[in-house]
Amino acid sequence: MTRLRVVIDKPACCGYGLCAEICPDVYKLDANGIVYVDDPIVPEGLEDSAREGAEACPQSALAVEEI
Ligand code: SF4
Repeated sequence: MTRLRVVIDKPACCGYGLCAEICPDVYKLDANGIVYVDDPIVPEGLEDSAREGAEACPQSALAVEEI
């Protein structure tokens, strides 16, 4: 089974929040509105949503890679 890992380019994040709107179970926003994840490994069943959230980022600050 393919597992996914989220890679964040934090300096590129401008806090638009699209990722967290699309996939709130993976992408969270800190007090400054900047993205973070509790765990870079995407939980099973959230792969499509995590990919969608990453692809929606206008800053290309998120990548989802197979591990
Ligand atoms: S969509 Fe991109 S710029 Fe917006 S909060 Fe998420 S990572 Fe940051």
